[in-house]
Amino acid sequence: MLACSAEIFTGNLIVGNGQIIKDVWLGIENGTIREIVKGDLKKQYGEIFHFPDSYILPGLIDAHVHIRYGTNPDSIPKTDEYQALRGAENARKALMSGVTTLGDAGALRNIGFSVRDAINDGVIVGPRVFTSGEMITMTGGRSKQPGERLEVTGEDQARRATRALLMYHGADFIKLGATGAISSPHTGPRHPQLTVDEMKACVDEAHKCGKMVHSHCYGEQGISNSLDAGVDVIVHGQGLTDEHIERMYDDDIILLPTLKTFCGHMEHLGEGGVHERIITTGIWDETEPNFRYALRNGVLIAMGTDAGMPDNVFGDNPRDLGYMVEWGMSPEEAIKAGTLNAAKTLGVDNKLGTLEEGKMADLIILNNNPLENISEIWQSLDRVMLNGCFLR
Ligand SMILES: [Zn+2]
Repeated sequence: MLACSAEIFTGNLIVGNGQIIKDVWLGIENGTIREIVKGDLKKQYGEIFHFPDSYILPGLIDAHVHIRYGTNPDSIPKTDEYQALRGAENARKALMSGVTTLGDAGALRNIGFSVRDAINDGVIVGPRVFTSGEMITMTGGRSKQPGERLEVTGEDQARRATRALLMYHGADFIKLGATGAISSPHTGPRHPQLTVDEMKACVDEAHKCGKMVHSHCYGEQGISNSLDAGVDVIVHGQGLTDEHIERMYDDDIILLPTLKTFCGHMEHLGEGGVHERIITTGIWDETEPNFRYALRNGVLIAMGTDAGMPDNVFGDNPRDLGYMVEWGMSPEEAIKAGTLNAAKTLGVDNKLGTLEEGKMADLIILNNNPLENISEIWQSLDRVMLNGCFLR
């Protein structure tokens, strides 16, 4: 990935941790923020940019996407090569919308790894991609095609699958299927799938090498199983109980409510498939109350759009934050959800998620104040900087 140096002045620096600093200089060296100062920078870094009236905030982090998919399910299966090319274009679209980091959660074979590595090697231009590779599911949990997905039965196979993802492919995090899914019609979304022992084995292996574990789950039992297994992130999570909330709050377990995908279905009612199943399964009715319940009780919430699901496109990813604000979150909290909290879900908050000295220079520049209106993030987006380089 290209790394650049620059000196930037801004009237409004939104740090990403709730703090706002007026009239500051950023000194950026080879992609890293070296200085943030009120007066003169200690040294010269490179080209000078002035944004006195703009708002600079960390590049957004969309911690839950599926980069290999098209807007609608493929009627004829596409090759892995085709899906990797599509993934590269999806990633580029996200970058141009202000998303400088993606969490690709549940890819297929080597597709996510290939896109990630091609971006990191500078072969193509795209945001930082952290990928889980294939999601680990129980046998038959997601697919009716034997062997099509990374399926396990029993603790040993779960441990082996996790080790293989981490060691052979360098998976950046692990994604588990704790319950069925709306998108797999042969399952009920709330039906428990991987057992606690299977998930515990995965968590154990991931945590041994410092990687986070995300659990796809709906319904009381599946969420309880995930928390019992020690996962770090609950994905979707409709069906939270008082006990879940308390455990998540106490242990800093993060919720990825993926509102963009659920709210997006409402624009496609009557089109069948997953758009209907969100209603018939009762998941939609739980979505807003569940989100508000978690928000009210101080659970850490992060941005994750589930882009790649049917009619859930790349390129308007920041709208996820708009739905959060619509349902009661303050714009300040929403920005934190899309930056620092999302960085935490991927275990990269030491390098990304806020604009501070020592962190990577991934930032976006807006013409108007997103704290007054969150939609300014996509309506007044001016520039996108990744690793110190302006790419938009
Ligand atoms: Zn998903």
